[in-house]
Amino acid sequence: MEFDLSKRHCYYFNEISKIPHGSRNEKALSDYIVSFAKEHGFAYQQDEVFNVLVDKPASPGYENCEPVILQAHIDMVNEKNKDSNHDFEKDPLDLYVDEEGWLHARGTTLGADDGSGAAYMLAILDDETLKLPPVQCIFTTMEEIGLIGASSLKAEDFHGKKLINLDSGGEVETTVSSAGGARAQIICPLEKEANDLPAYTLYIRGLLGGHSGGLIHLERGNSNILAARILKEMSLNGIEYNLVRFNGGLKYNAIPREADVTFVSAAPYEAIECSIRKSEAAVKEELEFSDPGFRVELAKSADEECRMTKKVTDHIIDYMYLMPNGLMHRSMKLEGLTVSSLNAGVVITEDERFIIEDLIRSAITSHTDTLICQLEVLASVYGFEVVIGERYSGWNFSADSGLREVLRKVLSNRGKELVERATHGGLETGIFKGLIPDMDIITYGPIASGEHTPDEKLDLASFDRSYEILCEVLANCK
Ligand SMILES: [Zn+2]
Repeated sequence: MEFDLSKRHCYYFNEISKIPHGSRNEKALSDYIVSFAKEHGFAYQQDEVFNVLVDKPASPGYENCEPVILQAHIDMVNEKNKDSNHDFEKDPLDLYVDEEGWLHARGTTLGADDGSGAAYMLAILDDETLKLPPVQCIFTTMEEIGLIGASSLKAEDFHGKKLINLDSGGEVETTVSSAGGARAQIICPLEKEANDLPAYTLYIRGLLGGHSGGLIHLERGNSNILAARILKEMSLNGIEYNLVRFNGGLKYNAIPREADVTFVSAAPYEAIECSIRKSEAAVKEELEFSDPGFRVELAKSADEECRMTKKVTDHIIDYMYLMPNGLMHRSMKLEGLTVSSLNAGVVITEDERFIIEDLIRSAITSHTDTLICQLEVLASVYGFEVVIGERYSGWNFSADSGLREVLRKVLSNRGKELVERATHGGLETGIFKGLIPDMDIITYGPIASGEHTPDEKLDLASFDRSYEILCEVLANCK
């Protein structure tokens, strides 16, 4: 299998790979698409974040058809092997085909995520022989760093009610649901006092963690929540203590694997250790299958001049003991799909504040609202503040999708069965659904693997077949 540049979709993929286009560096590729639209005489629009929207009129005989929107993101994740001296600011990607017909970029990510979708759109815009309804192609930016381009689109930017998102793979697969999300910061102002008690540090270790969109259903332990529970159990066992600092987790969207809590206490070391070992044994049994490596370490630590007051200590520990966290709802329709979850991903102790960074995800807006409200009601009990940051909408499964039925039929004519997938991650399609709730959306794309790593590769035979299938779907949108 060679990378045949006489095929339009291959030609444009190759053109795209010549122009560096990591997230936040999409201007050159965006301008390329603008020149392309000008040369072809298409109406287009380029916005301040370099999204480009291009309209292609219907082919003869399709003038009365409803328009179809195609959409892909033009940014890629820049990752390279340690020994590669590729410069993502100026070098073209160094494409090659392996013996099994996969396209790669030497030493770097390939950007098939989502250059394959962008190439499909350019090929479709370029080909005058295709049978097409009116088509609007939306090229978005900064998807990989938080769906930023998509978030800046407005409902009136969309010239139709049917949308095919080209940022998913599998050739016979389509996504039918994605989660929305909201970031919440729970902030507790600290009150401190002088300390003369011995200090100890508790370490939560050995947890597996993982992405809170993809893996929250595995019910892995959250180091922050477990640390708070173990401390609460110390109080319940009659041991008094004051927090000095509590830090855990690295990212709000990753299940935290470790937490370090320094506290001071007048209780004998043996009593503290005994309570902690009892809690550890209970948690170990609970996590036997999800997190077999879980362990707790306790060590005497250096003297501390200051400690949090008893009141603040209790408020922090009680809040974290009670706050909703982890898997909340599963789909009663799609097996294995998480509908709603929370992840207390990061806790940080600053000089004057203690902060919990939480990510709430749900395909259903009212779930997100309720979970935010629960965090807020609980915060009001303890005098904490909750700040809700960026929020994006979810895409709840809809049993009825005309586009999905067209895709199903086109695949079945080729002897292939459509596979429906759902994700608890966030997608641009969720944002579109939030803007236009009755938008009919499907996702489609070729077989690829290793996204976001230098092992990223694109199955060229599938790249050809998926292109034909996509064109056939459009031709059948009558
Ligand atoms: Zn992507």
